Amino acid sequence: MPSQRAQPSHVCKAEKLLRRIAPEDFADRPIYLLSRSAVPRELWLGNAVGFTWGALDYVLRPELESCGLWGGRGFACAISIVAILRRARVTGSSVLGTYISTALHEAAHHLESNPLLIQDSDLPLTLAAGREVLKRQALSAESFVDEDPPWSTHDLRWHRAFAHLRYRAMKAGADQVGIHVNAGSRYGLSSMGHYDRVFAREASKLRRESIRSVLRWPMPEEAQELFDADVAIWHRATRYTEQQNQQRMVTAEDAAR
Ligand SMILES: [Zn+2]
Repeated sequence: MPSQRAQPSHVCKAEKLLRRIAPEDFADRPIYLLSRSAVPRELWLGNAVGFTWGALDYVLRPELESCGLWGGRGFACAISIVAILRRARVTGSSVLGTYISTALHEAAHHLESNPLLIQDSDLPLTLAAGREVLKRQALSAESFVDEDPPWSTHDLRWHRAFAHLRYRAMKAGADQVGIHVNAGSRYGLSSMGHYDRVFAREASKLRRESIRSVLRWPMPEEAQELFDADVAIWHRATRYTEQQNQQRMVTAEDAAR
């Protein structure tokens, strides 16, 4: 029976796995897998299980320095252990598998957006602006204001990075990675299983390349077709729902006359 308590070893195992499956991407850089308590309350995104954002490492530098954790620029994400425990309980997954899946999810964001390319001279601006953006996002997450399509921050490029990380993690024997992940159907697209299939061939072929290098290869046609079809279906369904809602409003107004 897997442990249902998050332990510091989960953080160590997730970091070790990331360094093993994407050694070049994380070489010589710190990996900050932070707990919710390490993030100022006003910057946390609603009920998020975890999150990362652009240069989150630099944005949280004051907090990291104050507890002696700052070791230079690197990948930072925050993960709520309470939310991990809840999700593991609901889905029947192991706590470790859920923790690692979340760390891979956030790592895919970091690798596809490559915030380490931000110039040092721009960093003071990034610190102030980053905290403002995070505060706004936290507020909108709390008030459920989100007019963008559900996949807008989890597009095909992110799914590609995530599919490659998952493939490598599973080959490395990671426990239960890939079950109940936040991907695919959670963002209005086909299931992650479908995305795994369209990236399977290149995930095997390019398994020794860095993820950043993988992302520079032309997108596999099959993957692009799947994503385009998903987006078209989502727009059709959204238009249909809007028409239905308008129709209901007209009917209700007619009945009120
Ligand atoms: Zn995400």
